Amino acid sequence: MDKKNHQDWYLPEETKKVLRKRFKDLDESVHLAVFTKKGENDEFNQITELFVKELSSISEKITGTFHTIGDETAKKYKVTRSPTVMIQPEKYHIWYTGAPFGEEGRSFIDAIMMVSQNDSRLSQASRNRLAELKEKRHVMVFVTLSCPYCPGQVINGFKAAIERPDLISAECIDASEQMELSQRFNVGAVPHTVINEQSISKGLEPEEKFIEEVLTLKEIELEETYDNQSASQEVEVDLIVIGAGPAGLTAGIYGARSGLETVVIEKGNIGGQVAITPVVENWPGFKSIPGQELMEMITAQTKEYVPIFENEPIHEIKVGKHIEAITSKRILRGKALILATGTTHRKLEVNGEESLYGRGVSYCATCDGYLYKNKQVIVVGGGNTALTDALYLHNIGAKVTLVHRRDEFRAENHLQESVKREKIKVLWNSEVEKIKGSDHVERVVLINNTTNEFRTIDADAVFVSIGETPMNELAVQIGLKLDESGYVKVDRFGRTNIPRLYAAGDITGGVRQIVTAVGEGATAATSAFEDISHPYWQPVQETS
Ligand SMILES: Cc1cc2nc3c(=O)[nH]c(=O)nc-3n(C[C@H](O)[C@H](O)[C@H](O)COP(=O)(O)OP(=O)(O)OC[C@H]3O[C@@H](n4cnc5c(N)ncnc54)[C@H](O)[C@@H]3O)c2cc1C
Repeated sequence: MDKKNHQDWYLPEETKKVLRKRFKDLDESVHLAVFTKKGENDEFNQITELFVKELSSISEKITGTFHTIGDETAKKYKVTRSPTVMIQPEKYHIWYTGAPFGEEGRSFIDAIMMVSQNDSRLSQASRNRLAELKEKRHVMVFVTLSCPYCPGQVINGFKAAIERPDLISAECIDASEQMELSQRFNVGAVPHTVINEQSISKGLEPEEKFIEEVLTLKEIELEETYDNQSASQEVEVDLIVIGAGPAGLTAGIYGARSGLETVVIEKGNIGGQVAITPVVENWPGFKSIPGQELMEMITAQTKEYVPIFENEPIHEIKVGKHIEAITSKRILRGKALILATGTTHRKLEVNGEESLYGRGVSYCATCDGYLYKNKQVIVVGGGNTALTDALYLHNIGAKVTLVHRRDEFRAENHLQESVKREKIKVLWNSEVEKIKGSDHVERVVLINNTTNEFRTIDADAVFVSIGETPMNELAVQIGLKLDESGYVKVDRFGRTNIPRLYAAGDITGGVRQIVTAVGEGATAATSAFEDISHPYWQPVQETS
């Protein structure tokens, strides 16, 4: 294949344009060392080499060198798997075992930027904590290339490795390319983090939790990282927005544009549920747009107006003269607060679900599906998500059984027809009673809710797709009125039962779509502005 053809075939011109702009901020030159072995993942080897060549053609500050597993350089860096890409191997120990594509394309570009700028981008608290490390750590983050949560955890590992290159190395491993290695650590869901050969955690973690685990080599609760002493930075604003999904980000824009000093705070990564939605087809103005791309545009616009604190869960809200929202890093003090915390996946609440989570029980088919290629999987549910998941898993080669508690699906017709056409097995009127397995899911016990008969079927994984539940812990904690399903009750202006507190987006129930979330975000911020200007409540006496 000649250079011109592969360029046409590979990185689209639009992507190159974005990268060219991004690479203008490169500081030091970055060396990407690619290691391959003929006969081992050939398809990935070839595109990894082309990708690195293409990046070096976009910026003269990026250079690629190409090595064969077994040669002197591979021996020097102890590289044995194909393909492997090391970033600045002379200075740091960070690399990809597997091709840095799909969702990991994002972490790869971020890593190049961080290395070039010699900046770990860790918070000062994390830097201080890592300065205490005295022993070596090797961090392995198992991912799949279709997992939208994974790049965040990979970047956690790379940040630590850039901060302490003397002691920390970090590796991103494509679990679906490295099945043997994944099985050694019983990887049943991604991201799955192993530190010094011990499985430590599953899922994307806030930076401070991850750093604590690097130090202690055990999974810790987020609360254990919460230290009242370090919550000393006080930020005075007019409006606090909790949640950086479409509702929260839009509330940020509207708050700032109406003249309120506003801040948005997010417990995980910016973007909310849309950031993990592969394609959005009902956002007006765009016939079809990847969810991540849509959120990147909304985020960039929001950042023009307000600061967004990422990876900072709010632990507590206090309502007194001011409203205080407290994280492990700071106390935000405001005149009004908008809750835009959205929803999370609903659980089956059955025996085995929690203990086998990450070991066959999954809530994200696009993340974990590849781990179950050619295996028996169950998808539980009957709505759009369940049928989409079933079709996705079927298409990547899993043997799928749909388990649904009713005798008909709620999903859209075209999905039902696809399920029928693909001859996906359906068990009607069936509910999961128990999930069984010693170290991994092995069997599922079902009950037929019309005959009350039990049956046990073999399964390697259970994908739970039974809808969402509101993230209402903070709402409960401060005494907001909820409806019978746990959604926050608001009036049409986004006001809750407590003056100065508003709610917007999925947390209020209703249609639960991106367009409604942004509309509610705008409404709540506008109401907050009007109410702060013309309060309708009695001033609260100072209590704290
Ligand atoms: C798989 C999937 C596909 C979808 N596809 C579509 C589609 O095609 N079109 C469409 O219109 N809608 C779609 N939706 C629905 C859409 O994503 C939601 O309606 C929308 O994201 C709601 O926005 P939100 O801002 O209210 O909540 P979310 O997007 O859920 O964002 C809430 C944010 O709050 C944060 N948060 C929660 N608790 C705290 C805390 N204590 N402290 C700080 N932050 C916190 C969360 O981490 C999250 O980032 C889809 C949803 C899913 C799950």
